[in-house]
Amino acid sequence: MQTLNRYRTETPDRTIRLGLEIGRRLLPGSVVALHGPLGAGKTTLVKGIARSLNIEEAVTSPSFTLIAEYEGNREGIPITLYHIDLYRISHPQEIEDLGMEEILNGDAICVIEWAEKASEFLPESSVHVEIVIGDREKRQITVRGISPA
Ligand code: ADP
Ligand code: MG
Repeated sequence: MQTLNRYRTETPDRTIRLGLEIGRRLLPGSVVALHGPLGAGKTTLVKGIARSLNIEEAVTSPSFTLIAEYEGNREGIPITLYHIDLYRISHPQEIEDLGMEEILNGDAICVIEWAEKASEFLPESSVHVEIVIGDREKRQITVRGISPA
């Protein structure tokens, strides 16, 4: 059954916190597809997901490098996080060239900004997160495919 959860955050810290809660519920191999315009808070949410994997490195937008890889762990067990940003991608061939299929089929956790550009590569089981910008710092965040308590 598909689960659908809606949240509102009022500060970037709250969005990080939600990312942390989502991250705790991910399994090795999970794919998280992030949707929403520039400045919505996608990268901010990834900071929380990284925190859930005990990654201490600063997470920034990989808009030029496209893929960032972090080594995290959960209860002492190593787990890799890939943070992919497809903002600058304009052609599906470029996505294939990135080697995304291999990453998506591995057992790392993979979080993708502008994921709709890679829709044909995303597994059915992907968690989808959509962020809508509201007044000032308000954000409406819809999470599909997972239930953060
Ligand atoms: P994206 O990756 O979607 O382009 P970022 O996470 O890089 O967005 O940037 C979001 C910007 O919006 C940051 O400057 C952040 O401080 C600001 N912001 C304001 N309110 C929020 C909120 N509730 N959640 C997330 N970011 C917020
Ligand atoms: Mg971003």
